[in-house]
Amino acid sequence: MKMDFEKYDPVSTLVVPGHSVTRARYPFIDVHNHQNNLGAGNIDQLVGEMDRLNMKVMVNLSGGTGNRLKSMAADLKSAHATQRIILFANIDFSGIGKEGWTDNAVKQLEEDVRNGANGLKIFKNLGFSVRDKDGNRVTIDDKRLAPIWDKCAELKIPVLIHTADPESFWQNADEHNERWLELQTHPNRKRSDDNPAPWEVLIAEQHRMFGNHPRTTFIAAHFGWYPNNLGKLDSLLTALPNVVVEFGAVIAELGRQPRMSKAFFAKYQDRILFGKDSWVPDEYATYFRVLETDDEYFPYHKKYHAFWRMYGMGLTDEILKKIYYRNALRIIPGIDRTLFPE
Ligand SMILES: [Zn+2]
Repeated sequence: MKMDFEKYDPVSTLVVPGHSVTRARYPFIDVHNHQNNLGAGNIDQLVGEMDRLNMKVMVNLSGGTGNRLKSMAADLKSAHATQRIILFANIDFSGIGKEGWTDNAVKQLEEDVRNGANGLKIFKNLGFSVRDKDGNRVTIDDKRLAPIWDKCAELKIPVLIHTADPESFWQNADEHNERWLELQTHPNRKRSDDNPAPWEVLIAEQHRMFGNHPRTTFIAAHFGWYPNNLGKLDSLLTALPNVVVEFGAVIAELGRQPRMSKAFFAKYQDRILFGKDSWVPDEYATYFRVLETDDEYFPYHKKYHAFWRMYGMGLTDEILKKIYYRNALRIIPGIDRTLFPE
């Protein structure tokens, strides 16, 4: 019988010890989350869902800017959730290149931080689709943005930045592509060298920007899109001491190379943060299991990210505490330390 790749889903006959981990061993801070419609009506429910996972603090990267951020912060305050959900501001890139754009953007960021933002999030539209007033693609290392990164250093807030996407999206969507299924189900994710630029070019722009602003702390989202090349990420982190990483949406890459990952986590235990990205509470179990257990050959929750199975890294308690909360407490200002064990 012939069948589709999507249909083939064999039940493993392997019998080995296994653990379902629906709650993290230590309270944790998720530094990569999006709650676009956060408001008075849904904060209590969200905090309840966080409690079930042992998530003490969620970073909502979709804080917006101006009045949107202000009203979200006010809603959190009324719900007594200011210490549980914190906000990162975003930049409105429209009109870049116009007289005074940079000064206004810097002033707006200062105001957003006064209104309660604890960091800045840059979405992948920078690099992909942001254009200046003349219609040119704005590169990640564009000089007109430099004062924003310097201001973040001055305000002592980190910049969490997502640049580009997995390199596979630039490759032919054929039988050799590991993300073939994702490109089938999400065809708009396909990229090419002129849509809008080669992967290497975007990533190099990001690294140049990191290097140009050594006093600013950058959190490279999704392991900087090198979760499948930890040797390369190792050399990057060595060269760029102001950069830390989070593993939102890439736990499947770590779970397929548990020995390499474990060595990487040991070496960079002070520079890795817990992130997840999409808010599907049930999926956190895969993250906890990869980080905490020695389990073998267990399933991932999304076939289009990974058709392979996971293995646990079995991180030590000392390293787990750093990944779950200590590193984030050091890097992100304004989080209540008393929510966490020593
Ligand atoms: Zn995200």
